[in-house]
Amino acid sequence: MAERKIKCVLDEKALHTVMLDPDKCVGCVTCMKRCPTEAIRVRGGKASVAYERCIGCGECVRLCRHHAKLPAHDSWDTLGDFRYKIVLPPPSLYGQFNNLEDIDIVLNGLLAIGFDEVYEVGQAAEYVTDATKTLMQYGGIESPIISTACPAVVELIMMRYHNLAGHLLNTLAPVDAAAKLAREAAIARGIPAEDIGVYFISPCPAKVFALKMGFGVERPYVDRVLSVSDAYMRLVPAMAALTDIKKMSKMSSTGLSWGISRGEANATEELKTIAADGIEQCVAILEALEDGGMQDIKFIELNACVSGCVGGVMNVENPFVARSRLHYLTRKLKNAPNRMDDIGKTADYFLWEHDPTLKDVFKLDDNRLAAMAKMIEMDSIFETLPKVDCGLCGAPSCSAFAEDLVNGVIPHDTKCPRLGENKEGGK
Ligand code: SF4
Ligand code: SF4
Repeated sequence: MAERKIKCVLDEKALHTVMLDPDKCVGCVTCMKRCPTEAIRVRGGKASVAYERCIGCGECVRLCRHHAKLPAHDSWDTLGDFRYKIVLPPPSLYGQFNNLEDIDIVLNGLLAIGFDEVYEVGQAAEYVTDATKTLMQYGGIESPIISTACPAVVELIMMRYHNLAGHLLNTLAPVDAAAKLAREAAIARGIPAEDIGVYFISPCPAKVFALKMGFGVERPYVDRVLSVSDAYMRLVPAMAALTDIKKMSKMSSTGLSWGISRGEANATEELKTIAADGIEQCVAILEALEDGGMQDIKFIELNACVSGCVGGVMNVENPFVARSRLHYLTRKLKNAPNRMDDIGKTADYFLWEHDPTLKDVFKLDDNRLAAMAKMIEMDSIFETLPKVDCGLCGAPSCSAFAEDLVNGVIPHDTKCPRLGENKEGGK
């Protein structure tokens, strides 16, 4: 196999989810206040990200009106890295194009812009749905089952909701299933393994990160992860110039619906399901579940982005417009979804190859006694703070400021700027 290099557009050494353009950052703290894992600090007038806490949800990219935060992904130049290029278009891609009447126009367009083969992620999503139904029938996963299709949500659970890890659906993400199936089929047709490069066109930074790291798999199935926006710019003229549209799509309306919130939950045909979208709603559902609620629910679909994957920050279209287009396009596709039987597979083929590891990113110290001492110190510092979470100190909350002090992230004698203002007779 060819060496699988990790390449990001903005930083080839570090694998980061989001990058900062320091020249554009004005230190307004908007991103810091909305990061769901308190991963951002603004010190010296510039934002920085503690990447071990970043779940790649893209909120900071979405909210920065100065365009200082950028999602990391592979450059289009990486198309030269392999002789035989397989591309995996996600369902959300089809929602980007105005007046699209036929998904095959996009698939033919992908061949026109340099790929040798297309495998629809929506088709693989239908096999994953079939496997999910089998797993729901035979049990073994704590109920309610939580979908693992959104890597930002899974990262959040692995970081902050350790008690819920047993609820995670242990199937491959549709994109991994698509990459695995497409690569195997190409090798079976005699294409040398080292010539094959599998490219995903991603709507969000969370999927870039998950695919680079290989979530639930022994090694990444996808070689390069491009952005929907880069693909869109090349596809629009290529699609307009097509003279012959070959029939290519094998996906049904079920697979296409995975691109929008509730698509996966509905596909299970289970009646007691929840589908929530937007990171704040996802957090609310996870909190309620951790508190012991939702006992009668069987399946929970959570998407960090509003409206589902069509809301990813690497798309070009408004999520609600893209969502409407996918609804329209589902009516043009066949209704009968692809089944595992059709390709001679069983649910085993679509299972995780290993369980993901819980992340202890919020612990104060590796040593338990030291961690307890820091917790006590943190609590006593917190009691002296105004508890208004103003962000003036460069931390998103008073508790985060206290945490930064005990962890030595900022000098131990750093004072709360708000208290200083009060002492001087300020607000
Ligand atoms: S939102 Fe964050 S990255 Fe954007 S300018 Fe404000 S502090 Fe900087
Ligand atoms: S991508 Fe999400 S988790 Fe990561 S820094 Fe931005 S807001 Fe925080």
